Amino acid sequence: MPTLARMDIALVTLTAVTTVALLRDPIVGSGPGLTFTRDLMWWNRSGSFDRTERAAFIVDRGDGLLECLLWPGTQEHERATFRGEMPPGTVAIIHTHPIHVPMPSKEDEEAAQRLGIAIYALTPNSITRASPSGGGSVFVRKGQWVDPPPRIHHCRSAS
Ligand SMILES: [Zn+2]
Repeated sequence: MPTLARMDIALVTLTAVTTVALLRDPIVGSGPGLTFTRDLMWWNRSGSFDRTERAAFIVDRGDGLLECLLWPGTQEHERATFRGEMPPGTVAIIHTHPIHVPMPSKEDEEAAQRLGIAIYALTPNSITRASPSGGGSVFVRKGQWVDPPPRIHHCRSAS
């Protein structure tokens, strides 16, 4: 019985740490940001397995609200491409990854530094972040996070 009690405490501590890490992230720690990442993940849920990727800009509209602008689907293998100017006010890029590739790629890390924004890689089991300041990519969410599926789409097409 004492062993069981110690396990309970360890589990509670782990949950608290996970919650704190989530709250500290400016995008997926915010209600709208998490909704957008869920929306993109459900939009491209087959890509976790067929290895196509989908991406979106997270844009600060300047009035305190964030919006999600979906890149056109290019059906590329393990990459997503946007041709054109990054929208003004873009604070981050979110994109899906194949399920067994949780970490941002070297190209993702270089793009984060070049563009000066965070780039998030999403799989059904994790969210990771490449930072504009470099220093290596980190997990901001571990474990299943995609439920509940959004009832409506929250991301709209980037023109
Ligand atoms: Zn990537």
